[in-house]
Amino acid sequence: MEKKQFQAESKRLLEMMINSIYSQREVFLRELISNASDAIDKIYYKALTDDTLTFDRDSYYIKVTADKENRMLKVIDTGIGMTKEELENNLGVIAKSGSLAFKNENEIKDGHDIIGQFGVGFYAAFMVADVVTVISKALGSDEAYKWESEGADGYTIVPYEKDDVGTEIILQIKENTEDENYDEFLEEDRLKEIIKKYSDFIRYPIKMDVTVQ
Ligand code: ADP
Ligand code: MG
Repeated sequence: MEKKQFQAESKRLLEMMINSIYSQREVFLRELISNASDAIDKIYYKALTDDTLTFDRDSYYIKVTADKENRMLKVIDTGIGMTKEELENNLGVIAKSGSLAFKNENEIKDGHDIIGQFGVGFYAAFMVADVVTVISKALGSDEAYKWESEGADGYTIVPYEKDDVGTEIILQIKENTEDENYDEFLEEDRLKEIIKKYSDFIRYPIKMDVTVQ
């Protein structure tokens, strides 16, 4: 399978995330949930001007599921999804909000400031995961795709099966090391706490589902 390369600037940000010394790793969840919320907003706004679309509030939600045994954390949304091209363009290049554009070299090296002030978006997932998988089906498309990356050496995109429109982000949570422990990101209570802390402003329900064994 062909491995595609990240754009140079993305790669740099990714490497920073992977080797993160940033203490607030928990913000990765804020970034993923805000992306999920943005994706639902996109359907909402589309429905305002598109008569063929209705926005039934009950069908739109964000779900966070943790599977301790397999060290897997998922953030699922029923938002607008991404086409193959969008997976490529949106996840393969630097955050469009342009976090880095505002910052000078020194601040980028430090890393702390960018994450705190602007967020680094999707790549924040690599602070806690060594494999990130994105399965997505775009609104109006019959096809779904799987984007996957183990970090700075690139990513793959392959066709995939997915029934419903939306996106599923799957994080393979890092193994603990002598110095670092990542178990908290699989603990229901801790996840709830992080969600409460950062996602109070999210206008869609956030459901949880935790598998212990
Ligand atoms: P930003 O949210 O600032 O644009 P991110 O790095 O967080 O930057 O996300 C990059 C882009 O990837 C988003 O702008 C969006 O187009 C796309 N994206 C990320 N997550 C999702 C998702 N769950 N559903 C649909 N699109 C997404
Ligand atoms: Mg974002």
